[in-house]
Amino acid sequence: MNDIKSMNLEELKAVCQELGEKPFRAKQLFAWIHQKMASSYEEMTNLSRGFRSRLEETYPFRPLEIVQVQTSRLDGTQKYLFELFDGNVIESVLMRYHHGNSVCISSQVGCRMGCRFCASTIGGLVRPLSAGEMAEQVYQIARHTGERVSNVVVMGTGEPLDNYDNLVRFLRLISSPEGLNISQRNLTVSTCGIVPNMRRLAQEHLQITLALSLHAPNDEKRKTLMPIAYRYTMDEVLDACRYYFRETGRRLTFEYALVGGENDSQEDADQLAGRIRGLNCHVNLIPVNPIKERNYVRSGKKVVENFKNKLEKYGINVTIRREMGADIDGACGQLRKSYIDKTDQERKT
Ligand code: SAH
Repeated sequence: MNDIKSMNLEELKAVCQELGEKPFRAKQLFAWIHQKMASSYEEMTNLSRGFRSRLEETYPFRPLEIVQVQTSRLDGTQKYLFELFDGNVIESVLMRYHHGNSVCISSQVGCRMGCRFCASTIGGLVRPLSAGEMAEQVYQIARHTGERVSNVVVMGTGEPLDNYDNLVRFLRLISSPEGLNISQRNLTVSTCGIVPNMRRLAQEHLQITLALSLHAPNDEKRKTLMPIAYRYTMDEVLDACRYYFRETGRRLTFEYALVGGENDSQEDADQLAGRIRGLNCHVNLIPVNPIKERNYVRSGKKVVENFKNKLEKYGINVTIRREMGADIDGACGQLRKSYIDKTDQERKT
């Protein structure tokens, strides 16, 4: 690995040794990258000039570049489009809540999970992101705004559990006391339900929140929305959730995108309640964000309310996700996609 920003303290010690420096320099280097959120070696003024240029030669810093920032006039939500060192672009979102700032990051360039309602998956998977590239989305936004980031959700483009090792490395870096020190309780990873990796994650014993994209009350309907449902049954996925709770003591979140006429009836709510009752969980209802490539429509306000009420009758915790940044390319992957479409168009003309 020659990605300096993905390295933990031990690995940085080895780098220092290799480049003829004392091991204690590793702590300084780590703090520059993960606490002071440096964007170049230049800034690291307590390291010698010689060391900095040896670092630059052996481990190029390669910062993310901000290509575009969109700011919502409604609620101050900001969408960032970043360019990676290899020219790929990814997007991240800053959401401002009363309880603090939350950044939503991407875990891959594109995605291969193929969920029918999601814009991120249309061009397929291009490549996974390194741990450093995940962390830097947070650092860049914190630097650019000058504001503290207290929560990170891995809910942008990509399937985090399809990039397992880099994801876990990122979670450890961002929660490291020598780094930004974001509490693990303020980190959320959202997955479409890759069962073996959910179980593996449980065994890491991190205190993060696991959010499962359920989106349907049974396997049949889930298959029409999410190809992953052909691979793992709902029973298997929910078993993995129970296991996650047993191992970590962390309450699960279930995400449920309400798609008009597909999964939003009262029977759907009954069936869903039957499947998840007794599980220590919280349901997050998301009126689906329509994308132009698909003809799904969002459920009406009343339908959403009724769905919520039904679940609550069973004693299930439910919230309706408040829409943020509705006036900027809202849904997952739409900013990146519209940017790529536009540049493709320009190349052709
Ligand atoms: N791959 C992960 C995380 C990325 S998506 C996962 O599947 O969970 C984050 C959440 O947004 C998921 O619940 C996903 O299903 C949902 N989502 C994607 N596109 C959406 C859309 N157009 N409207 C509403 N929710 C959407």
